[in-house]
Amino acid sequence: MAFSIIGDDTCQFIAPTPLPDPYWIAVSPQAAALLGIPLGPKQLPLDPAWLAVLAGNALEAGGHQFLKPMATAYSGHQFGHWAGQLGDGRAFLLGELNHQELQLKGAGMTRYSRMGDGRAVLRSSVREFLCSEAMHALGIPTTRALSLVGSKQPVRRETVETAAVCSRLAPSFIRIGHFEHYAANGLHARLQELAAYLIEAHYPECQSSSTPYLALFKAISTRNAERVAQWQAVGFCHGVLNSDNISALGLTMDYGPFGFLDHTALDHICNHTDSGGRYAYHRQPKIMHWNMACLANAMVPLIEIESPGEDAADILRAALGTFPPEYEARWLALFRGKLGLQTNVPEDIDLIEALLQLMHANRADFTTVFRSLSTVQKKEFNLNWRDQFLDRAAADSWLMQYRERLALESNSDAERALQMNSVNPKFILRNHLAQHAIEMAQEDDFTEVNRLHLILSRPFDEQPEFEQYALAPLPDQVVTDLSCSS
Ligand code: AMP
Ligand code: MG
Repeated sequence: MAFSIIGDDTCQFIAPTPLPDPYWIAVSPQAAALLGIPLGPKQLPLDPAWLAVLAGNALEAGGHQFLKPMATAYSGHQFGHWAGQLGDGRAFLLGELNHQELQLKGAGMTRYSRMGDGRAVLRSSVREFLCSEAMHALGIPTTRALSLVGSKQPVRRETVETAAVCSRLAPSFIRIGHFEHYAANGLHARLQELAAYLIEAHYPECQSSSTPYLALFKAISTRNAERVAQWQAVGFCHGVLNSDNISALGLTMDYGPFGFLDHTALDHICNHTDSGGRYAYHRQPKIMHWNMACLANAMVPLIEIESPGEDAADILRAALGTFPPEYEARWLALFRGKLGLQTNVPEDIDLIEALLQLMHANRADFTTVFRSLSTVQKKEFNLNWRDQFLDRAAADSWLMQYRERLALESNSDAERALQMNSVNPKFILRNHLAQHAIEMAQEDDFTEVNRLHLILSRPFDEQPEFEQYALAPLPDQVVTDLSCSS
């Protein structure tokens, strides 16, 4: 397990605080299968002892013992400023199953709780559970969610809500913030152990490099460049891209006030605490690059050890320079796929940008515009597609260029539609859908949480019986006030 390498000075061995009278809200069968946890007929773990374990009330189920739960220390930059020590203020790493670490979020206080109460409210836990599994189904690497357990325990936020515990899985929960913590505290031996662990367990390709630490930096940067390109391609806004929320494995993690673009605004800010728009949709790539600069900074001592006599900062600066072209190449490949373009024409980037600008100007729905693009044909003019834009003339003009471009593709309309529908989702976790599921869950009705989980596990399938879940929110359904409060 990752943290077998972490010593007492950077973690706390501590058991979760029991959650009063816990009950099941949801379980992800796919995540359970990943861990090898057998489910019974009701899609709940066969061994009922799992409920107690996943609530933080016991440390043994299904023949597994979790003897040394722990919370780890990390630091980080929040909204562009050094925030010093943070850490798992409410997350407990229970242990490892099938190469996945199992973590409980919201399971009580730790040494790193600072002013927090160690709990997570039902509202934010439903969002984390649903979005983790929805992102996975979209093919975007992410921490996963195994379960959502509720309780009537009151938790005070802006109002009094109730507690929930979401269990998460990942091959490792190490963040950029762990590197920053060790670097800021002069813990260079720990920094070396951390890098060695990551290379051995998660980036074995770096082993053969003559400069493995530098190779590790580049590999982490590449993965995160790919990740943010994937987010842009589905209109996902993370909301809090602080360096402590960035995974060293390039996983999407720490779901808070995230949002998917509905009525496209390229400068959309999903977190209303982010008044300056630092984490707006169109800024995410630059911010991820900035976070990689935080990682580079923290890795200076490692590069000094690895390349003595050379300027470590220069080496890392050069490595950091590969992020923008890597991101752009991945972005272009993904958007070409979204437009069904298999050949490469230099002007494609202009065509894609023009579409995004058209969507922005018309506040057209990000997901349905791309999904319905597969109905456009080379020879027939499609009158329906343009109806998504108030400015029909502008839409027609773009469509004409697009159809001219399609003429250069050799595949048929039907083949192209099939390919496009496998990358342009029909169903995403729209905030108003999550909100509806939360409101029902707050009334002890978990059917909508489970229905959404099911629909979003097949985001590229038509699922005609759930047509209304594919629709953009009506004006009165738009959720506008998502904050960091969780
Ligand atoms: P976040 O904004 O959720 O990434 O959280 C930032 C830091 O605050 C992390 O170190 C969390 O563990 C911690 N934190 C957030 N909420 C709580 C809470 N209710 N109790 C304890 N720690 C918390
Ligand atoms: Mg966090």
